[in-house]
Amino acid sequence: MQPRVNLPPSNAEIAELLSLETSKASYVLQRAFRRAARSAFLWEVEARELVARKEPLTQLAHVGPFLEKQIQHWIRRKQHPPPPLRKQFFTLAESRVRLSKATSWRVRLRGDLQMHTEWSDGSADIRAMAEAAIARGYEYIAITDHSKGLSIANGIDEAKLKQQSAEIDAVNREFGSIEKNITVLRSIELNLNPAGEGDMDAKALRSLDLVLGSFHSALRRKHDQTERYLAALRNPHIQILGHPAWSHLQLSFRLTRRLGDGVSRSYASRQGG
Ligand SMILES: [Zn+2]
Repeated sequence: MQPRVNLPPSNAEIAELLSLETSKASYVLQRAFRRAARSAFLWEVEARELVARKEPLTQLAHVGPFLEKQIQHWIRRKQHPPPPLRKQFFTLAESRVRLSKATSWRVRLRGDLQMHTEWSDGSADIRAMAEAAIARGYEYIAITDHSKGLSIANGIDEAKLKQQSAEIDAVNREFGSIEKNITVLRSIELNLNPAGEGDMDAKALRSLDLVLGSFHSALRRKHDQTERYLAALRNPHIQILGHPAWSHLQLSFRLTRRLGDGVSRSYASRQGG
């Protein structure tokens, strides 16, 4: 987001200002600034609109009376941070405005290829997920419960995956017989180790329609982790790399560029064999 100097700061800019304060603040305040900076991306409305309407900012997540004063001060002074690290990153409030203006994307959205069910750490069963998908006008969904290595998320093993496949077949048959246009794909969110290797039998994975691969461990390492993402892309069992996020923003540009190369190489080699 380019700062617009005639406007008070947006939530994204407030997030930058808050994180800049983190480095100057006392130890006790650091946590408060950091938490509010993260939350600012998810605030439902622009803080500057609340100030314009004379509404309290303490209704925003992680804003107490102290931070309210600080943020009001920035908004009144139309203070802008230096060019933000998170360029082109939309906050929730911005996304809502953009999506309400551009409605055509909804028609093009035909499915969802990542979801968890009661089989791992989700809260609904497969049938309920299929019904919710039909209500949204989707044509397909992929059931991607966590694999066995992620025990904290109740990951499933090969035996459970097989039982789940039978349940998916039954749901597909049921909806097919009443002419509901939905296909439930058999999939999994394969837990990857830092070498990009999965934790499930190749045979079990081959029985699926689609495999997502995701990293869930050692995500806070400070040095460049590009190699592990490239290794994941070379893993022949995976078709989709799940949530390729990185906690260290300064690495993300480099990562994106090199992943782009990795994707085309990996795709080319699969086309060849
Ligand atoms: Zn995940």
